[in-house]
Amino acid sequence: MKAWRIDSHGGSEVLKRVEIEQPKPGPGEARVDVRALGLNHLDLWVRKGVPGHQFPLPLIPGTDAVGVVAELGPGATGVKVGDRVIVSPGSSCGECAACRSENDPLCAKYGIRGETFDGGGADSIVAPARELIPIPDGVSFADAAAIGIPYVTAWSMVVRKARVVPGEYVLIQAGGSSVSIAATQLAKIHGATVITTVGDDAKIEKSKAAGADHVINYRKGPFREELKTILKAAGRRGVEVAIDHVGKDTFVDSMRSLAVGGRLATCGATSGGDVTIDLKLLFFKNLSLLGTTMGARADLARIVKLVGEGKLKPVIDRTLPFAKLGEALDLIESRKLFGKVVLTRD
Ligand SMILES: [Zn+2]
Repeated sequence: MKAWRIDSHGGSEVLKRVEIEQPKPGPGEARVDVRALGLNHLDLWVRKGVPGHQFPLPLIPGTDAVGVVAELGPGATGVKVGDRVIVSPGSSCGECAACRSENDPLCAKYGIRGETFDGGGADSIVAPARELIPIPDGVSFADAAAIGIPYVTAWSMVVRKARVVPGEYVLIQAGGSSVSIAATQLAKIHGATVITTVGDDAKIEKSKAAGADHVINYRKGPFREELKTILKAAGRRGVEVAIDHVGKDTFVDSMRSLAVGGRLATCGATSGGDVTIDLKLLFFKNLSLLGTTMGARADLARIVKLVGEGKLKPVIDRTLPFAKLGEALDLIESRKLFGKVVLTRD
C-alpha cells in the first residue's frame, strides 16, 4: 500500500510517499481503509519537529483518519466489515483506572496516532476495534475527518474543564482555528455568549456564521479595549471563561479579561509557551487555570452523535487530494485557513 512517511524533520521535502506492506489486524484490532484525513496543527509540528521532543521516526503521519472497516482481527467486536468509522486519534490501554473512568488521556500508555505512533496518512490503518467510532448516516467522510482532535480538545476545555453554563460569557482566542470553531459551537450549545478574536476582517463573518456573538479583529488595536466595550454594554466587567491556545502572545491578556472566579482553559501555545504571570492576579481574583491535551474517547463519541443530529457542524476550509499533504500543511502554517483542511481519496 502507499503511505506518507517522515524519516527526518524539516519542510515539505521530508514528506515521503512510500510503498509499504499493508498492516494486518491483530487480536481485537481492525484494519480501516482510509477515505479521508483531517489535518491539525499537530501534523505540522510532527513534520517540523519540536526542540527537546523526540518523535518516533520513521513515522506515518496523519492524526484524524476516517474510513471503512476492511478486515477484522481475531476477537474484534463492536464493528463489522463495511462500517464507516472514525479512528479515534487517541489510543490507550483500555483497562487501567484512567481508561475505565473516561479519562483515557491520563492513561500511562496514552498516545496520539500520527505523533506517538503511526497515523492515518496511508491507504490503511490498523487500530483496536474499541477505538473506532461509527460515523452516523448523513455525515460525509470529509466532515467526519474534521471532528476528531479539534472537537474532542474543545470539549475538554469548554465542557469538562471550564464547565461552561448558560448565561456565561466566553472569550475564544484565534477564532478561525478549528479547535476555536469547535469551542465556539460547544460554548453556544451550552448556552454561552461567545466573543472570538480573529486576525483578519475576512474571518469576522465566518466566525459569526460559526456561532460567535461578537468578533474582534485583534490586528486593529488591543483586543481588550473592544472587549471592554462589548462587556460594558452587557453590564459586565469580565468573561467567565477564556479559551486560549495561542500562548505567549495572548495568554496574560486572556487572564486579565476574566471576571472574578473566571476560568482559563488552554490546550496549546502556538506563539510560544514561556509566559510570565503575576500570581496576585491569579489568587486575588480567584481564577482557575486549566490545562488539557486531547480528550476522552467517550466524549468524542458524544460529539459524533451531536454532529449526526446536526447540532454541531464541522467547518472545512477546503479539501485536497491525498497526494497534497505537503500543500495542506503549508496552508495550516500560513494561518490563512478558516477551519479544517481535509485530504480525501476522490
Ligand atoms: Zn489505560
